[in-house]
Amino acid sequence: MDEFELIRRYFAPLSGPAEGVMLGIGDDCALLAPPPGYELAITSDTLISGRHFPEETAPFDIGWKALAVNLSDLAAMGAKARWFTLALALPEANESWLAGFSGGLKKLADESGVHLVGGDTTRGPLTITITALGIVPAGGALRRSGAQAGDRICVSGTLGDAALALDRWRAGGDPGADDAPSLRARLDRPTPRLALGEALRGIAHAAIDLSDGLAADLAHVLEASGVGAQVYAARLPASTAFDRLAPAADRARLQLAGGDDYELCLCIAPSQLSEARRRAAALGCALTDIGEIEAGSGLGVVDTHGAPLALSELGYRHFP
Ligand code: ADP
Ligand code: MG
Repeated sequence: MDEFELIRRYFAPLSGPAEGVMLGIGDDCALLAPPPGYELAITSDTLISGRHFPEETAPFDIGWKALAVNLSDLAAMGAKARWFTLALALPEANESWLAGFSGGLKKLADESGVHLVGGDTTRGPLTITITALGIVPAGGALRRSGAQAGDRICVSGTLGDAALALDRWRAGGDPGADDAPSLRARLDRPTPRLALGEALRGIAHAAIDLSDGLAADLAHVLEASGVGAQVYAARLPASTAFDRLAPAADRARLQLAGGDDYELCLCIAPSQLSEARRRAAALGCALTDIGEIEAGSGLGVVDTHGAPLALSELGYRHFP
């Protein structure tokens, strides 16, 4: 199967006519037309086999996650996801792998209303780079730099599930085979919070998606905004599976320093909190108030006993 047959068979079906696509797969470039009055939001993420996902990860899940991590960045900007490109390095043209991979990609693309508009296919160690493009009303994007002293810090969904699944997998168990399939799904098939990001545009002062762990990602917001924060470990939202299976001694580490949550962290003025909650609830999404933005700098975390918690003791590293 040559490169063009491979594209035709596995990736062209993710294309098709779509709003704003003047020209899709097949020419030297795609031609896209964002609506007047909108800005383009563009983001890229690369996933390397063995580094960003275990080598034995199901191809379906690799396809899903490669797109999900990019869409999560669009969600964090409050952008509407529209299009994406796929640059794929493959060791070989393995048809069952390609069918699984493109199937996972297509499932999330269909659910999210995004269309594949181009890419590149080469031979090499398995590496997947997706560039996702979204649209956002001019001047309306949610940035990291808008947090203000007095804002409430809110997170969507629950924290720590993916990190717990990874811990359990590393410890030699197969989290998918025991009583924790929901944890493993959070690791392999994260759901980007696209609708929530859009719904909170014009409400939240600042936003970021949680890919490297709450402490590291919130620190980016604090730095960009020139503010500090207090977060309360006892308030961090957890799933029932996490509550049941996370060892007590690991909870704070998993929820504060564990990555791959792909939830949104938003800074919201107290006066807007109930409206934000109402909009989140309409989307079936929990929004939990976990602390406050303060004047100053740095992140303080209060442990479940009300004492300061040293982030250095969480095994927290900048380059995990
Ligand atoms: P060029 O040599 O001009 O860069 P290619 O021969 O690499 O073009 O690609 C041919 C067409 O197929 C282009 O429109 C390109 O965007 C598209 N394409 C290549 N690889 C992929 C892929 N993995 N997914 C989607 N489209 C792809
Ligand atoms: Mg060309």
